[in-house]
Formats: sequence, structure tokens, C-alpha cells
Amino acid sequence: MPHKKRIEYLNQKLRGIIQYAYKNSVAFKSKLDSVGLKPKDIQTIKDLEKIPITKKADLVELQKRNPPFGGFEGIPISEMRRVFISPGPIYEPGETEYVELGWAQGMYAGGFRPGDIVINTFSYHMVPFALHMVDNSLHRVGCVVIPTGVGNTEQQVNILKNLKANAFCGTPSFLLNISEKAEEMGFDLKKDLNLKVGFVAAEMLPESLRSKLEEKFGMVIRQSYGTADIGCLGYECMLKNGMHIPDDKIVEIVDPETGKQLGPGKTGEIVATTFNRVYPLIRFGTGDLSILTETPCPCGRTSPRLVKILGRVDQVTKVRGLFVHPGQADEVASKHPQVAKYQVVVTRREQKDEMIFRVELKEEILQPEKLKEEIERSIRDVMKVRSEVQFVPKGSIPEGARKIEDQRTWE
Ligand SMILES: [Zn+2]
Repeated sequence: MPHKKRIEYLNQKLRGIIQYAYKNSVAFKSKLDSVGLKPKDIQTIKDLEKIPITKKADLVELQKRNPPFGGFEGIPISEMRRVFISPGPIYEPGETEYVELGWAQGMYAGGFRPGDIVINTFSYHMVPFALHMVDNSLHRVGCVVIPTGVGNTEQQVNILKNLKANAFCGTPSFLLNISEKAEEMGFDLKKDLNLKVGFVAAEMLPESLRSKLEEKFGMVIRQSYGTADIGCLGYECMLKNGMHIPDDKIVEIVDPETGKQLGPGKTGEIVATTFNRVYPLIRFGTGDLSILTETPCPCGRTSPRLVKILGRVDQVTKVRGLFVHPGQADEVASKHPQVAKYQVVVTRREQKDEMIFRVELKEEILQPEKLKEEIERSIRDVMKVRSEVQFVPKGSIPEGARKIEDQRTWE
């Protein structure tokens, strides 16, 4: 869909779910009532800003006050097919009929096709991901599922071999375990196993690990992002060009302090709205940070994309009005292989924020001034804030030190 049509489509879906949730979800109704809104006041994505965010971190408490779902469910518990339990505990209403599109879109974009034979190594117990989301979505794509769950690595290797499974769902680290176990068992990963595509989630995927696994197995690995509560919020296409937002969600990037929407290119919290009537979460604050882009992806999909997941909101620090976070500092450091350790220190001098990027080098270098300038340029590019780089002697930055140390005091 072209951008404009897509927005119209989403606005229309939004009006529908707002009407529905107001009528059927006690928690959503009281949320709108608390700020004096009626469903008709929410016509467009922009109007969502008027609704207070429901933070994932608050769900445990909200559910305790009004068990079991905090009033966020959209149908009576007696009509649900399943109830899931995520750590917290957070109770999640399960599908009557599984209608979510996002994960299936992600699998298809990552190369999964009807008839593929898949081991699903996510955990099937209690939590909703493996059974509710992944298993149902694989079925939707037309794949054959082997519900192996986590662990039993040796058995998983034998299953892969005997059933000639060609697709993997699970965490990147578990796929690494499988590769090591298979090698230990004397198998050639490319000749004896048949893995061609992998769908990974629930963990950060460093590019080094992705290429290592892709190379070892001769397979393609694509990642998706979402939460147990609201489902898929982003998936990679073949071009690995950030994560496309699925067509059945509205994703806003907001200022975590004010809840106001930030435009493309700005770092903020991922806040999402689903059209799922069983569990109609509206403006659900994930606590994760990202940047949105609307530049067209050459793959042809017109959906906006999350550039990448940058870290957690609670690690964020505001410097001169801009959010900085450890993920950005990591990115700066990764551009300069001479950096052994670093720490960002934020202080306040003459009513102004000052940021210093302290760096321990792997070894003495000949032209420290040149490297200092290069790192300062990377900081401007990545963090959008000016900072001075200070080289400090080895051992100056303690083990386990916070990556961003906020030393400001406020009278
Ligand atoms: Zn794409």
C-alpha cells in the first residue's frame, strides 16, 4: 500500500479497535474516562497522543489490583482458549482464534515458505511465544512444525537430521549451541543437516554471530522483534534494512517523558497499539528504545521500519535535551577498534550539561590527537551530541561500571 493509503487503513482500524476496547475493556474505558476522552476523540494515529501510555513495567501492579488481567482483556475469561503466564507474573489472555499477522509476515519475509519443515525451539510452557505466536504463525504460512521446545540439544540435532528439517525458530544462542553439539557429534553442518532459513527473536543478534551461523550452516537468518503482550512489532526482510512494522500494529516512537510522538530519525520509546480484540492493548509502552524510518525499503514493502533496538528506556539519560543511551555509546566504540573500554560521564557546569567520553585504549598509539578527533566525530554522528574524548590510563574505568554515568546534581 502507498504511504497515504496505509495511514488511512490504519486510522480506520484504529477507530474500530478504540470503539471496541471502550465497550469491552474495563481498563481502557477508565483510562479514557480519566482524561475526559470519548472514543470519537480518537480518529487518527496523531490523536493517540491524547491517551496515557500503559507501561509494561506497570502491568504486574495493575493486574494485582484487578486480577487476573488488570481489566485489559477484551472478552470474558470463560471465552478464551488459553491463558499464558510471563515472568512477573503477567497473565496474558490467549486467542480464541489466532488472528495476529505480524510474526507470519516476518517469517515469510525471512524466506519461510509453505511445506518447510521447522523445529520450533522456543519454550512451549506458560509463556505465549512458542505455542500461541510462533506455532500458530508457522501454521498460517503453511509450514510443518516440530514442537521441540528448548533444551535436549543432542536430540534436536538428531531430529534435524532424521526429519531433514530445513528451518529453525529460536534464539540465536540456542542455534549456536546446536551447531557446536552437531560438530561434536561428528556431523558436517552443511552436508548432514539441511537448515536453510532461521527465524530468531527474544535476544539481541550481533552481526558477527549472524554471519558466523549463516556461514556455518549455509542458511539465511532473519530476526523479529516484539513482546509477549502485544506480539510482533518488527521483522527483517531479506535486505536486513531495519525491521518492518507489521500491518496489524500501530507503532509510535515517543518521548519517554512526555509521551509525545517523535518524528522519524529520533530516538524514543516504542509504544504500540494492536487491533487484537481478545487483548486490545492501546498505547502499550514496551520500555524499549528505537528510531523509526520511513525511507522506502528497496524490497518493495512500504511499511515504516524500526532502525534497530537500541536498549531500554530506564538506561536513558537526557543530555542537552537529547536522549543518549548505552546502545549509541556501544556503536561509537565499535567504530574504533583501538578502544578497549569506555565510559560516558555526564556532568553539569555553569548550568550546562557536559558529556565526556572516557576511553581506555588497547595500546599506546602514535597520534592520539587524530584518533580523538575521529571518535568525537563518531559521537556527533551517532549520538547527535558534542562530547569531548578523554584518554585515560588502563584500569581507570572500573569493571562493571555503568556505560553512562550521570554525575549531575540538581539543586
Ligand atoms: Zn524491506
